[in-house]
Amino acid sequence: MFDSADFRVGDGLTIRKSRKFGIVGIPGEIKVRWHRDLPAGAAAAVLSRSCGKWHICFFVETPDAHGPDPVRAAGGIDVGLTSLIATSDGDAVPTPQWVRMASTKQRRLQRALGRCRRGSKGRLKAKMRLARHSARTANQRRDFAHKLSRTLVNLYSHIAFEDLNITGLASGMLAKSVLNAAWGQLISFTDYKAANAGGLVAKVDPRGTSQECDCCGMVTPKYRPGESPIRELNNRIQDCPGCGTVEDRDVHAAKVIKHRAFPWLKGPGAGPGASSQPVAA
Ligand SMILES: [Zn+2]
Repeated sequence: MFDSADFRVGDGLTIRKSRKFGIVGIPGEIKVRWHRDLPAGAAAAVLSRSCGKWHICFFVETPDAHGPDPVRAAGGIDVGLTSLIATSDGDAVPTPQWVRMASTKQRRLQRALGRCRRGSKGRLKAKMRLARHSARTANQRRDFAHKLSRTLVNLYSHIAFEDLNITGLASGMLAKSVLNAAWGQLISFTDYKAANAGGLVAKVDPRGTSQECDCCGMVTPKYRPGESPIRELNNRIQDCPGCGTVEDRDVHAAKVIKHRAFPWLKGPGAGPGASSQPVAA
């Protein structure tokens, strides 16, 4: 008995004019309930059984690679601690409450688990409580990432993020792992949703995005609280000594990110539609 089998279309498996299947080794024709029309070019099929039903899945090769559509609207996204994200248009999404809650509770449940004797009933219960909590956090994160990525893709055809593989968060942050996972999922969901809509997600080197001036390119080191009493108050503000630009730091960083990804959109008159240059993949 088997649960799945691979076929080449036209070889082990044929589709009859009656839209029924012929499968080698099985006499007669097999009735099929089609869920959609089969496009030309189906090369391989996998027959599988789950829950007592047989399904067949076709693999269709499509002439891919008409790249992304032209830029309708481009946006840069800065991820951060104060705001989960800030956009180059000045929108900010606050870090959701469950991010902080999730890490605090996870630590509490892990400590409780650590106190339980190995093999005890209490340990099993603590383990299940931790697993339930992890599952709930994952659900909240996924739900959030789906909604926010949808919003971003509706707003922008071309979206630039920081490449989070290059720099992460400062260590010692309680909510670090929760935040990193939330950003990672947001970026990957945005990526495939944008691709489906003919758009594009670009990831740029995040180094120095909060120190660079988007208007004149001047790099100004930023100080952490305590390092410089003069600049400390302005820590959340980009205040460029070169050209005098004053702006929310996260929003300004989002602009830098946008222009690192789509440099031809920079400058006056470079609004939506003003760009016809090809997009670097
Ligand atoms: Zn400047």
